[in-house]
Amino acid sequence: MFNRKIIEIDKPIFKNNVFFYNISTTYDLDKYFLKKDSFIDYIDVKDDLSSVPEGISIIPVLCNILPVSWIMDATIFIDELDKTFFESIKAIKENFSMMFPKIEFKGRLIVKKIVDYDRIFMEDKYMPFFSGGVDSTFTVINNIDKKPILASIWGSDMPIDETEGWKNLSNIINQFSKEFDLEKVFIKSDFRELLNIRKLNEEILAINDNWWHGLQHGISIISHGVIYAYKKQIGNILIASSHSTRDLEERGVEVIPCGSSPIIDNYFKFSNCKVIHDGFDFTRQEKIGKIVDYVNTNDKKVYIKVCWESISGKNCSSCVKCCKSMLGILAEKQDPNLFGFEFDESILDEVYEKVSNPENYGVYWDINKGNYWKHIFERFQEDPEYWKEKKNLKWIFDLKL
Ligand SMILES: [Zn+2]
Repeated sequence: MFNRKIIEIDKPIFKNNVFFYNISTTYDLDKYFLKKDSFIDYIDVKDDLSSVPEGISIIPVLCNILPVSWIMDATIFIDELDKTFFESIKAIKENFSMMFPKIEFKGRLIVKKIVDYDRIFMEDKYMPFFSGGVDSTFTVINNIDKKPILASIWGSDMPIDETEGWKNLSNIINQFSKEFDLEKVFIKSDFRELLNIRKLNEEILAINDNWWHGLQHGISIISHGVIYAYKKQIGNILIASSHSTRDLEERGVEVIPCGSSPIIDNYFKFSNCKVIHDGFDFTRQEKIGKIVDYVNTNDKKVYIKVCWESISGKNCSSCVKCCKSMLGILAEKQDPNLFGFEFDESILDEVYEKVSNPENYGVYWDINKGNYWKHIFERFQEDPEYWKEKKNLKWIFDLKL
């Protein structure tokens, strides 16, 4: 019969374009939850979403909780679920299990009524998740001919209590959507405040990864698009890759363990809508190259928001992520100041100091260990003639990559 660990999710409650979810669990699972309710608010959506059926509107909270049931070997009970999504869970779970062979993926999902919501979706409608960073900006530009509808989540990288930070970030996104004449959807969600990540991390020590990165963020972020895509018949949800085929080659692996991966995201299906893990054939540096090319050719302005050091919603222009991005833009022979950074050449000396002494500044500054450094330096080294006057870049040309 069933194991004793049980999670029940009630029928979603709908009010003013907010979906509320109530969860109950057996006491042995209490410690993995910070609370037992959750919500998703489609904050700037004018369409009434009340017609979205239960078996679709339950998917977001279900995606957040499924990994808990797998790892804790718990049984989830729900009333209704879309047939296509129900079937896609099997492949997603199997692929997670292949990705993380050191832990077992168990648990069950019991659905009272599995419904085939066979609905007409528009093959030519695309909805990418957009945060303003390199990956998602590339994905939008890479699909710009399809007039993509931007979806942004307040509550993902930007915490829901950071009103000021969200104001700044949503301004950046608004400007981008105006600049490119694209529709946008803002979704506020407390999905990162539901689970006790500290406790869950203790259960997956064997995989040497954390809950959010390893198990949560891929399917949970995608699931935030499900309700709106269903309502608006958007046939394709896009999620930007952060790794690339070249990363696989360089690491000599077939899969990079990460909760957002082609072998997870591309298996996420519901009704007649599919999900595309976009941009996997491009390195981050190639993405930066494509963005600056497009911006120059089409005379557009883009603020590339990469920094999560400061919650202000703006780039700090000094953390490792900001520095790599500024260097990446410079390597494309472009001025980082045009892309949302405060750059002057003294930053190059600071970067040199830090990458020369990573033991003082942290492993991310170690160019042999941190991601993407190599690809940035390679790009500089392609044209030594162009850079030969720049004395504070000389060290880059002395590097043996
Ligand atoms: Zn920064």
